[in-house]
Amino acid sequence: MPLTPPSICPCGSGLGLTECCGRLIYQGLTAETAEQLMRSRYSAHVLRAIDYIWQSWSETTRQCTTPEAIRDWAESCEWLKLDILHTDDGGAADDTGTVTFCAHYRLGDHTHQHLEKSLFQREAGQWHYVAHCP
Ligand SMILES: [Zn+2]
Repeated sequence: MPLTPPSICPCGSGLGLTECCGRLIYQGLTAETAEQLMRSRYSAHVLRAIDYIWQSWSETTRQCTTPEAIRDWAESCEWLKLDILHTDDGGAADDTGTVTFCAHYRLGDHTHQHLEKSLFQREAGQWHYVAHCP
């Protein structure tokens, strides 16, 4: 089900969607940092931009999911808020980085937090999500 995009970016940056994750999700700009990609992946869940989420997965770990699984997960929850808790590397001059985040969402009558430390890797000049860290 398509959603009307909000004017403020869902990632919590305080910027407008078109100045923030919307540039990556809808206009094909490349994330400069792992955190930017992380934020845009969260926003893409809110916006149900399934193709974008799929493309943001590393090719080497795409077998861990399917576009259908991404869609089911994105649409099953009401996404409430993203907190970026910590980043390691993942800068414009790095090839790998981690982002620790907490995504708040509502499922049925309950709110939940998904806490994850994600590993990102730059492949062919673009940041991709590899996996969550153990
Ligand atoms: Zn954003």
